[in-house]
Amino acid sequence: MSTEFEGLAALVTGGASGIGAAIADRLAAGGAKVAVLDLNPAGSPHFGVECNVADDASVRAAVDAVVREFGRLDVVINNAGIGAQGDIAANSDEEWLRVLDINVVGIARVSRAALPYLRESPAAAIVNTCSIAATAGLPQRALYSASKGAVLSLTLAMAADHIREGIRVNCVNPGTVDTPWVGRLLDSAADPAAERAALNARQPHGRMVDPAEVAGAVAYLASPLSGSTSGTSLAIDGGMQGLRLRPV
Ligand code: NAD
Repeated sequence: MSTEFEGLAALVTGGASGIGAAIADRLAAGGAKVAVLDLNPAGSPHFGVECNVADDASVRAAVDAVVREFGRLDVVINNAGIGAQGDIAANSDEEWLRVLDINVVGIARVSRAALPYLRESPAAAIVNTCSIAATAGLPQRALYSASKGAVLSLTLAMAADHIREGIRVNCVNPGTVDTPWVGRLLDSAADPAAERAALNARQPHGRMVDPAEVAGAVAYLASPLSGSTSGTSLAIDGGMQGLRLRPV
């Protein structure tokens, strides 16, 4: 059993499903007290707090609830995010602003509400869930890519601003991860099983990324094991970024 988070408290946004749920389980397995902040936290086995990262009052109330419950906050995982399909003409201004509000401003809201508590922590770390979309130039993902590009830039800026306060900030860049999100996309295809097989075959290592593999990377970046690491992005994508591969 690992103990790298013993005595520490963590929150995971979007922690009720997919990658966030795997991260919450991994941090708890390492000894952390874990809170899940989600639109719908009901199914989570962890301390669930209903929260909309697009609503500042909701975020502040949720972070306060975590600190009331655990008496501290050391680790913040900004994972909540939504997708968007299509080229630059596919989405209205309202859709652009909605996705940026959740995927980018949501990280600022949660992080700034957590800052006073992180400054008190001897092991403060923030990890943002970014995406290969930040740098890959994915076709038919204009809005989503712009949002994740901003997450990458924000990670670097936050790392610079807060390292002297002892707060490390990093991000993970997953490739295609087998989560309910991807399941919903597959289910909308004419033949979901064939589409799943084709999607697996398109990955460099022949399969989608397992959410637990992303969670392992997040656990490293969130733990004192990476105590000298800040402002990095770690690809968990079957080698896509390193091999300069890109789906077209
Ligand atoms: P998912 O849809 O399975 O889970 C997302 C969770 O976020 C859900 O529990 C949902 O309720 C919650 N959520 C959504 N909007 C929210 C809001 N406004 N406030 C609070 N919670 C909210 O998705 P996933 O595939 O696990 O993706 C999680 C993160 O990983 C996202 O940031 C996504 O961009 C990123 N990501 C996913 C993949 C992939 O292939 N699945 C790849 C790269 C990056």
